[in-house]
Amino acid sequence: MNNKIRVGISSCLLGEQVRYDGGHKLDHYLKYTLGEYVEWVAVCPEVEAGLPVPREPMRLVGDPESPRLVMIKTGIDLTERMQEWSENKLREPEMTDLRGFVFKSGSPSCGVKGVEVFSPSGQLNGRGTGFFCAVFMKRFPRALVADEVGLQDTEYRSKFIDLIGCFR
Ligand code: SF4
Repeated sequence: MNNKIRVGISSCLLGEQVRYDGGHKLDHYLKYTLGEYVEWVAVCPEVEAGLPVPREPMRLVGDPESPRLVMIKTGIDLTERMQEWSENKLREPEMTDLRGFVFKSGSPSCGVKGVEVFSPSGQLNGRGTGFFCAVFMKRFPRALVADEVGLQDTEYRSKFIDLIGCFR
């Protein structure tokens, strides 16, 4: 029986080729070291919401507290589509028992903090949280949330591992 603690993760961090350019962002520590102790539940919001690989890149636009998700070249607004998909996804049983989630930093869909938010004309307007990550944190305010950059800090990593309750 698998008793590992279940933690969500942005799929590209496990090496899945789901990024807009067809690439991945494999994080060896997360996949091969921490992966010994947790059961990763991989999610790529953009692909699971029905977007292709490769695809046009997108960005956050508008109010940094409540930005819209918009494709950069065509201006196609994905906000409603991603909102609906995110809410449905987070109702799935496999999502409701996650102890936490490790998100890909800097992504307009997955970034935890400091994600660039632009004005409609393309000027930097501020920084905020990726769209799916924001919906996740709102729905599961007690879940532990981190990104792969934060987990490179050994002190922070130890704290995170202690909090999710697995062995180092
Ligand atoms: S950052 Fe998120 S949306 Fe982008 S490829 Fe990775 S999992 Fe998919």
